[in-house]
Amino acid sequence: MTLTEKQAALMALAGRLGRERFAPRADKYDREASFPFENYADLREAGLTALCVPERHGGLGADFATYCLVSAELGRYCGSTALTFNMHVCSTLWTGALADDLEMSAAQRERHERHRAEHYRRVVADGAIYAQPFSEGGAAAAGKAPFGTVARRVEGGYLLNGKKIFASLSGAADYYGVLCTEEKPTLSQRDTLYLAVPAKAEGVSVVGDWDPLGMRGTVSRTLLLKDVLVPETAELMPPGLYFQAASRWPHMFLTLAPTYMGIARAAYDFTVRYLRGEVPGMPVKRRMYPTKQIAVAEMFVRLQQTRALFESVIAEARIDPAKEERLRAYAAQYTIMENANELCRLAIRTCGGQAMLRSLPLERLYRDSRCGSLMLPWTAELCLDRLGREALYEPGETDD
Ligand SMILES: Cc1cc2nc3c(=O)[nH]c(=O)nc-3n(C[C@H](O)[C@H](O)[C@H](O)COP(=O)(O)OP(=O)(O)OC[C@H]3O[C@@H](n4cnc5c(N)ncnc54)[C@H](O)[C@@H]3O)c2cc1C
Repeated sequence: MTLTEKQAALMALAGRLGRERFAPRADKYDREASFPFENYADLREAGLTALCVPERHGGLGADFATYCLVSAELGRYCGSTALTFNMHVCSTLWTGALADDLEMSAAQRERHERHRAEHYRRVVADGAIYAQPFSEGGAAAAGKAPFGTVARRVEGGYLLNGKKIFASLSGAADYYGVLCTEEKPTLSQRDTLYLAVPAKAEGVSVVGDWDPLGMRGTVSRTLLLKDVLVPETAELMPPGLYFQAASRWPHMFLTLAPTYMGIARAAYDFTVRYLRGEVPGMPVKRRMYPTKQIAVAEMFVRLQQTRALFESVIAEARIDPAKEERLRAYAAQYTIMENANELCRLAIRTCGGQAMLRSLPLERLYRDSRCGSLMLPWTAELCLDRLGREALYEPGETDD
């Protein structure tokens, strides 16, 4: 992939922050299962929290591919920071470059422009952070049913009620970008609303504990919304637009994968350093054994295969992709999520027992990598499900 100057500069910036600041702090956040506030202060200072805010609104104006490249850099150093950065940045990418591609009436476009200007102002001027709590524990986050969290239209805004599980950045975000269904006699996915709920709004609470296997710094607790009143300006997209985005811009669901691309790279890099005797405190060279050389070669091949697919799909992401491009996106998500975990597994097997001690990052990478294929709506299982079905059936086809 030939990088633009802007992409190279932003990746270098993310890489420097990751290496110098985030990697040394990653163990602490992982052990404490606490949110990486210091990393966010650094991201804010570097302008990266406004990465995908359009330039005319004071942001860096990064497009989809550039976001993915930057995110993959961050993922090399702190998985939890990269994953939560995804939730925040996508709140601006989906409402920005992606929404610009969608079909809107002039009135919708004007309304969207007015509302998003306020969201971007918060990010750029106030340093606000947005989360993306969609999951509810039912079929909605998989795209198979309307969200159970509902919003009733009231004078000047919406009244929300519902519950979101795995709300990354819970207790840390300033706004929760909640997907919910507009309350009507029959709930429909077409009536999905995407609303920014202030963390401090009355009726918002974060409950439950947080002590998971991996991605512990994401602090993804449960969010409760009880009669939460938000103004119309809370709309992150005009009513009906999220449904259009999800149907026509499928790569929007690929944005979690770059984090795991970064983890895959980190597992490989660690293995090379370890076998060369370059990991601090572990000066045991193992590179002379042919079995190690073969293992590293196999890891390199797998990493390159994964990276090649990653680069090809982020370059072809667009509205109304061809069927083959959409299927390739599922294949990329599946490959990245599964291979990140596989590369971490191979890294531990190859480096050996001392490499999995908690004083080294590998065991954290291994645990973090396990979470990738569980992320809805494109879990590894659902990617296979979609691939098989969509490869064999054209839209509307049945066997009746
Ligand atoms: C570290 C971490 C951070 C997260 N952060 C966020 C966040 O910020 N925002 C957010 O919205 N979510 C977040 N999630 C949640 C995540 O996207 C999933 O919603 C969650 O992992 C699903 O768990 P579950 O047990 O409810 O899955 P279930 O819904 O019970 O599904 C279990 C498995 O069954 C399969 N499955 C599910 N539905 C179907 C179906 N209809 N047909 C066939 N197979 C199906 C899938 O493969 C799925 O993996 C996070 C998860 C983790 C682990």
